[in-house]
Amino acid sequence: MTGFPERLARVRENIARAAARCGRSPDEITLVAATKTQTDDTIRQAIAAGITVCGENRVQEFTAHLAAGAYQGASVHFIGHLQTNKVKYIVGKVELIHSVSSEKLLLAIDRQAEKLDLVQDILLELNLAGEVSKSGLSMPQALPAARLAAELAHVRLRGLMCIPPPAAGPGKNLPYFEKLAQIAVDIRNEMGDNRADVVCLSMGMSDDYQDAVSAGATHVRLGTALFGPRPPVPINFGREF
Ligand SMILES: *Cc1c(COP(=O)(O)O)cnc(C)c1O
Repeated sequence: MTGFPERLARVRENIARAAARCGRSPDEITLVAATKTQTDDTIRQAIAAGITVCGENRVQEFTAHLAAGAYQGASVHFIGHLQTNKVKYIVGKVELIHSVSSEKLLLAIDRQAEKLDLVQDILLELNLAGEVSKSGLSMPQALPAARLAAELAHVRLRGLMCIPPPAAGPGKNLPYFEKLAQIAVDIRNEMGDNRADVVCLSMGMSDDYQDAVSAGATHVRLGTALFGPRPPVPINFGREF
């Protein structure tokens, strides 16, 4: 994994510069290392180099890395598509689930968290471009889902997440990020006692994280910018189990 410390330094510099341009502190932005398809060793090295949060996409990879102790020294967030029947592998084992893409999933997470007698922090994932290939709540579904989350005793809504289409160039995804920030404001205005919890905006990937920071991102999820081109999917991880 040559070059990781240099790439990490560059990413941090870019985040700091984008934050400074809009009067934010870089401390407001959590760098989530998107570790999909990376090995245990690569994850350990990334953590040794200063990564504090790993973002996992696939249940099976998460379970394997966890069993191997690869995340020692960092916390883990789940950022990938989650099927309702897999929540038992994730709830209570990750600090934050970014990708709650339906009310059905929200309810399943709440039920599992209740079983474990804990409160799971979650973000609602919005499909802002209405892409059929992607999961996520539509804009009209966001507020009702937030209200539902507020009623559930075993989930805590922390904010919103989006995965816009690949950025076609600098500034191109800014409107999506600004939209997500606006929807978060609308939700906060409706939230009563829980509003102080709803502060997270998980948005921005390798090609557009600086624009996301400009629009208020609190979490950027970076794979390629940190690790370089992704290795192929490991042989056993090709399919969901
Ligand atoms: C892979 C992935 C990322 C990181 O993608 P890069 O373009 O490599 O930075 C971020 N978020 C999610 C949900 C991902 O699946």
